Amino acid sequence: MTDYSTLALFIDGRFVSADTRTTEPVFNPATARPIADLPHATDADLDEAVAAAARAFPAWAATTAVERSAILRRAAALIRERIEAIAVVMTLEQGKPLAESRGEIAYAADVIDWYAEEGRRTYGRVVPSRVPGVVMTVTHEPVGPAAAFTPWNFPALTPCRKIGGALAAGCTLVLKAAEEVPGTAVEIARAFADAGLPAGVLNLVFGDPATVSARLIAASEIRKVSFTGSTAIGKSLMRLCADDLKRTTMELGGHGPVIVFDDVDVEAVAETAAIAKYRNAGQVCISPTRFFVQAAVHDRFAARFTEVARSLKVGDGLGAGVQMGPLANPRRIAAMEALVQDARDRGGRIETGGERHGNEGWFYAPTVITGLDDAALVMCEEPFGPVAPIVPFDDFDEVVGRANSLPYGLAAYAFSSSARRVADIGAALKAGMVGINTLAVSNPETPFGGVRDSGHGSEGGAEGLLAYLDVKLTASA
Ligand code: NAD
Repeated sequence: MTDYSTLALFIDGRFVSADTRTTEPVFNPATARPIADLPHATDADLDEAVAAAARAFPAWAATTAVERSAILRRAAALIRERIEAIAVVMTLEQGKPLAESRGEIAYAADVIDWYAEEGRRTYGRVVPSRVPGVVMTVTHEPVGPAAAFTPWNFPALTPCRKIGGALAAGCTLVLKAAEEVPGTAVEIARAFADAGLPAGVLNLVFGDPATVSARLIAASEIRKVSFTGSTAIGKSLMRLCADDLKRTTMELGGHGPVIVFDDVDVEAVAETAAIAKYRNAGQVCISPTRFFVQAAVHDRFAARFTEVARSLKVGDGLGAGVQMGPLANPRRIAAMEALVQDARDRGGRIETGGERHGNEGWFYAPTVITGLDDAALVMCEEPFGPVAPIVPFDDFDEVVGRANSLPYGLAAYAFSSSARRVADIGAALKAGMVGINTLAVSNPETPFGGVRDSGHGSEGGAEGLLAYLDVKLTASA
């Protein structure tokens, strides 16, 4: 497999190969065959990664924002230069179509560029004093070495959100990227190394997730933890952080409601919604996932949505014209099967899909289900896969109550041509990100994050930088 990365840990500026370390296989989800062996960090490696981040911190924090920015921008430029090679690595290990891999990597480079620039604007302020002669200034200081944990659905974007925020703020970082998709993370680390990042500022480790996170979070040098993944794991990491009161950013699960009123171009909205739903085979935390459609247009919406789902070309992400790849791991297949079985048991109508696709790899067919009530499993649990339930609603208050009924609050969407409804629904939906007449709520320059069980804190936007900064008041008489 010559196109795949040479896997390694990256500790204190050096790439560390397997040697005598234990390894685990990395699979191509389109074939379910192994493509590489990933070294696991030993306890000593993890301790060394933390020590390296701690040693590098004072000098990196003292490096001027302009110099830090220049290094980040060089890394972003290298990632862009290498986009074709990294996209192949990403598709081989994660499965998404090559065009999606390219798009994600370009976006990840934009995120680094944006943080590089925003890091230069870490302004403080002078507050008028109540006492003559006293000067009160508010400044920001990097919180310290940080640890970050990223999942397998966006192998470039999620690591770059955390790397960009931490490094631009003057923090150093130990990143544990997902073991399913290590090649992309290694290539990102390589771009930073080649851009002249000082040793120890960024470290990359892999291993058993629970063992690695417990050891990194227990280290007293680590002052900030950023996690993207499931709500259950986020809560367990929060408990580990509590002992030492470490600051946290938790970007957890969601179950994005999409409310479609009957005053829109129904077919056009159905097409937009279906394309967005099956992007990355539905393995997106802000994916539109619960479709509430006003009763008068429900059938038309479901019919067009189903047509789009049926028309999608599903296959190996490296194949020409493929629009949806496999699921990233066999756990997602089992999850889809459980959701669909529950829907069948409740008398739901499988409009299309409802089964695995092909005989090889971890494919599941784009699936549409109608005729469910809100108690169905797929209406309550984040599907994180290509299964879309579509249900009718009658009026505004009813649908707002149903949309807000889950403990999640990541992304929520609504479509209407009434200005009044747009204003009202925007205010009523409980979510960290609300899209109205659009499903595009993720940008480098806007905050990305949730409320309630979807977590707290933001990545991206000015908020993403503040997540790695402490606030200091200096009163000087
Ligand atoms: P999971 O809960 O086992 O793992 C989720 C992620 O957390 C994975 O990347 C995993 O490597 C990591 N992880 C697991 N245990 C950890 C620990 N103790 N310390 C540090 N990291 C740990 O579930 P999964 O089967 O990998 O994914 C399924 C669910 O995870 C999905 O249903 C979805 O809710 C959630 N998820 C969310 C996102 C997101 O972008 N918010 C991404 C991937 C998965």
